[in-house]
This record gives sequence, C-alpha cells and structure tokens, in this order.
Amino acid sequence: MNSDIKISSGPIFCHRCGTLMINTGDDVLECSACNAKKDASEYDNIKIITKSNQKSFPSKLRLRRSKIQQLDRYKEESAKIKEKCPKCGNDEMNYHTMQLRSADEGQTIFYSCPNCGHKFSINS
Ligand SMILES: [Zn+2]
Ligand SMILES: [Zn+2]
Repeated sequence: MNSDIKISSGPIFCHRCGTLMINTGDDVLECSACNAKKDASEYDNIKIITKSNQKSFPSKLRLRRSKIQQLDRYKEESAKIKEKCPKCGNDEMNYHTMQLRSADEGQTIFYSCPNCGHKFSINS
C-alpha cells in the first residue's frame, strides 16, 4: 500500500479559484482562469499523467501566448518588396522571413500578394 499514489493521482485544482490546473510543459501547473502557478514537481505523478495527455489537452494560455509572439514577429519582419505576383502581376509583394530550422540551415521567406492574396514561400 502506498498512500503517496493515492494523494497525487487526481487532477490538481487551483487553490485560488478551483479551476483545473494545466501543466504548461515547463514543470509548472498553471490555472487557466486566474493564472495562479504551482510547481509541478510537487506532483510527480500528475506531471507524468498530464504530460502524456498534453496534445489532447493543451494550455489555452500557452496557445494564446505563442500566437501573440508570432504576430509580433510578423510585424517586425514583414516588409514590402518589388516582386511581381506570379498570379495577378501586381508588382509589389509583402514578405516576411521566418527561421523554421536551426540557424545554419537558412530561413524561409514568405511572400503574399496584397492585391490577390496569393501566397508562396522560398527557402533560402
Ligand atoms: Zn485559479
Ligand atoms: Zn497577386
């Protein structure tokens, strides 16, 4: 009989508002309602359970955060370039770059046409 397993084999609820806490993947449990945080290492068994279920149970907060980061990045690196749209012939394209792989493997340049919305990408 191991009483430790019994104690930590259920979902963890926020100590402040009672909402189910979500494992953010950084060994931190985060409340999706009030942002309260708890060290997941306090709940070793829970950590394993939530990690294996993470794909079907993603953190809403984390998704929102990465979306904002992407938007910031887009704004920073987005620019116009004299490049003909292969679809409608518009002579100015929006483009932005994104590092998809490791730094020494180059980057991907995304073009999009402000006129017709045509999109394509080039690996440099
Ligand atoms: Zn909470
Ligand atoms: Zn176009």
